[in-house]
Amino acid sequence: MEIKVYNSLTRQKELFEPIQKNKIGLYTCGPTVYDYPHIGNLLAYTIWDVMKRFLLSQGYKVTHVMNVTDVGHLTSDADDGEDKLEKAGRSSGKSAWEIAEYFSRVFMNNMHNLNILPPTKMIRATDSIKDQIEFVKILEEKGYLYKTSDGMYFDTSKIEDYGKLANLANVDQQEGARVEKNLEKKNPTDFAVWKFSPEDRARDMEWESPWGIGFPGWHLECSVMSRNELGDTFDIHTGGIDHLTVHHPNEMAQSEAVTGKQQANYWMHNEHVKFEGGKMSKSAGTFVRLEDLKEKGYSPMSFRYLVLQNHYRKSLNFSWESLDAAQSRLTNIIKEIAWYDKPKGKCKDLCEEFNQAMADDINTAKALAVLQKVIESDNPSSAKMRCILKMDEVLGLDLENLKNKALELSGEIDIILKKRKEVREKKDWSESDRLRDKLVALGVDVQDTPKGQRAIQVKF
Ligand SMILES: [Zn+2]
Repeated sequence: MEIKVYNSLTRQKELFEPIQKNKIGLYTCGPTVYDYPHIGNLLAYTIWDVMKRFLLSQGYKVTHVMNVTDVGHLTSDADDGEDKLEKAGRSSGKSAWEIAEYFSRVFMNNMHNLNILPPTKMIRATDSIKDQIEFVKILEEKGYLYKTSDGMYFDTSKIEDYGKLANLANVDQQEGARVEKNLEKKNPTDFAVWKFSPEDRARDMEWESPWGIGFPGWHLECSVMSRNELGDTFDIHTGGIDHLTVHHPNEMAQSEAVTGKQQANYWMHNEHVKFEGGKMSKSAGTFVRLEDLKEKGYSPMSFRYLVLQNHYRKSLNFSWESLDAAQSRLTNIIKEIAWYDKPKGKCKDLCEEFNQAMADDINTAKALAVLQKVIESDNPSSAKMRCILKMDEVLGLDLENLKNKALELSGEIDIILKKRKEVREKKDWSESDRLRDKLVALGVDVQDTPKGQRAIQVKF
């Protein structure tokens, strides 16, 4: 099937052509583990998971690599902020290592809750320091670096088309957003590849290097890991749209400086999540974590559904009402499929339509609409079930498991159902109705069929 994706590099939708026929190298910029991820961070991993699942469904073998930033990500893109992990450690009385350990676990749990397939390889920045130092040595030998009082910097003016990805030439060099504070930098866009530890105190995380004790610049790890695991040039590089103007141009510049080749052929970026139209911020109480959703009784799968209702290149306007609507939509799907027969046969045209939607720059909103079409179609329920399960291999809504869970009823509910069966046999309709109300109050759906009553309870 012809797959088209929007490539930030060419700023257009392009036919996707992998380097090798059946294999795809995919790199996703991972989390900085200094705090809880907010749902905007998690949207990115959800989207790229669906894309990966789709590629897998089309018969590709996907090698997916993701970094975990546990050192070197500064609070300011101008390379003069503090290391986010060291800062989080200091303010909580823990070491940067403990912070990294804790929030890596939180991130992995969130990924698991969201039914995101684990990457083929996840690598911590602190586990690749040796390789990062080797990489910087090559940059130095090739004459791309210069030294300042606080680190080794990459001279972006030595790369002819630095910023081509973000079209920086047309963005007025990010005036304001990228305030020039470091007066020793030769160009505002230059960035640190190795930062020196402060002279007056030891950092929690620091390493010896040919340039002095210090730590790697944040952008370095992605260039190093992607090259090691996927080669000089690989197929798809993904990340949030916030990476488009600094992190990704820097990664690309370093990689091209070392290899003389384009780092990745397709660069894909997801848009942000907004909270009721505004930015998510801690101070405004709009910094929403997956844990917050769960505490309010929402399923991570409902958030996943909400993400899929939107196209990844449009920002998602999150509100509790929109999450409510997604959860009830998902609940309705489970109720619909609860009594479907075992999967058998095909809804051929609809499966094809689903794949077409996904192949059109991962149009998940359209793909969900096709799922609904399957439910509403007059195909036999066994064919519908097979088709839905096939689609869910891509959507990852965990429908089969949710359906099975809905059919499992507690002992308490079983007792009420048994009682209701008895009173119905005695034609005591008012007691039967009273028991039905009781079941409904417990979130149970009861249907009276010619074969007797049947019940489900959708649980998240
Ligand atoms: Zn990266």
